Amino acid sequence: MARKPGSFAVHTALLFDPKQKAWLRNVSIEINPTTGAIARVVTRSSPDLPSPLPPQDIDLRNKVVLPGFVDSHTHIFLHAYAERPATQQMRDQSLVERTVRAANHARAALLAGYTTYRDLGTEALGNADANLRDCINRGLIPGPRLFVATEALASSGSYEIRVENKVGLGLTVPRAADACDGVSGVRAAVRRRVGDGADVIKFYADYRRKVMRWPNDIESGDGPGNRILFPPDNKKARNPAVPLFSQEEMNAIVGEAALAQLPVAAHAGETRAALMASMAGVNTIEHIFEDTGGLLDRLFEEMKERGTVWVPTLATAEIATTDEIYRWCKAAVKKAHDQGVLLAAGGDTGTFNHGLNAREMEIMVESGIPVEDALVAGTIRGWAACGKDQCGFRFGWFEEGNRADIIALDTDPREDARALRRVSFVMKDGRVWKRDGMPVDMISVPQWPAEEEDLSRDGSSSQGWFEVPS
Ligand SMILES: [Zn+2]
Repeated sequence: MARKPGSFAVHTALLFDPKQKAWLRNVSIEINPTTGAIARVVTRSSPDLPSPLPPQDIDLRNKVVLPGFVDSHTHIFLHAYAERPATQQMRDQSLVERTVRAANHARAALLAGYTTYRDLGTEALGNADANLRDCINRGLIPGPRLFVATEALASSGSYEIRVENKVGLGLTVPRAADACDGVSGVRAAVRRRVGDGADVIKFYADYRRKVMRWPNDIESGDGPGNRILFPPDNKKARNPAVPLFSQEEMNAIVGEAALAQLPVAAHAGETRAALMASMAGVNTIEHIFEDTGGLLDRLFEEMKERGTVWVPTLATAEIATTDEIYRWCKAAVKKAHDQGVLLAAGGDTGTFNHGLNAREMEIMVESGIPVEDALVAGTIRGWAACGKDQCGFRFGWFEEGNRADIIALDTDPREDARALRRVSFVMKDGRVWKRDGMPVDMISVPQWPAEEEDLSRDGSSSQGWFEVPS
């Protein structure tokens, strides 16, 4: 079958297709550069290619080819907490600094093979994520395809930046969530998010809302002279994650999002709120770091039955929780996988730096999950987390009409535990951003007019560049 005019092809020898969960040999992918979509997927009869190859074709036969990765839980406006705590980033950094950082984050993520981000909240920057998404879509900066939450929903007095000086002397802090209460209140909040440009609705099903009860010693580690002398020594009792919404409110959030045809993500640190969120019908549950109520088995049954996707954010558990909690998370993820709970890979990226996103899939494998299932969690399952066809695109596997998001690894992840770090080719929407391990010329810059054009001041300039307004 002849190629369509203007199309080009990517030729592979070894490719992983997450939809079939299979390693395929000798596949060529024809791409329509006008639509940025896959035009055709063809299996060749041999590893060989016709000679000479059309010059625009790309030969990736010495690499391991995958669909572009999807990170299902990111914060494009945050950088590593180890560099600066989240509260300080939200409270103290300017809009300009956070935006410039976000542009760098987007580039780093794309070059690491991440062609899609489900970005779950700006963290005190309103709906700037929707603006950033549109900048990327307009081609102003390189970056993943963003699906954004704008502000997360939380009930009053829960997910907010705390300061001890409540008197304040006129000091205000930015809000970290869209606070809402009651069935009509949460419905109104979902409508505000839709109006602000959200692609996904995120709400806090629970939170450690007693942060600030014993503020300094425990939460911010203030030094001698500013300590509370006798804080409670039970870590869980001091600050448990407790539900922020009633079942009726969670049901209303999901119901209102359904009217807007948007998926819903629920933050849940504990199994109790996770169970409530799953029963409300959310698409994904984020985190789950503890099971103090002993509800894990029931939760997994519920999630499996409903097809609720779990985004366990293991990479942030690794850096931001205790060894005990991290071990619990890895065991829980393995158990969930074995019981048939759907998993998507999302690192809560931003708590550690963008570009290191693949750590989430690595930890899944270290937890005992087969590499193929980790790759599914990092590709097609991410599409599911974005709402499947509700998101308006298809990506995460190879099929006609899908976005031409194609990446290549230098080594085989079945043999090399660090293979997912070795992304040497990146294509998004049919455009190459990385080749042979090097970033490709990123963004066009203004071009001088052709030499023959007269740019002198004598009035003959065709563009009037030097005309001085009278
Ligand atoms: Zn998060």
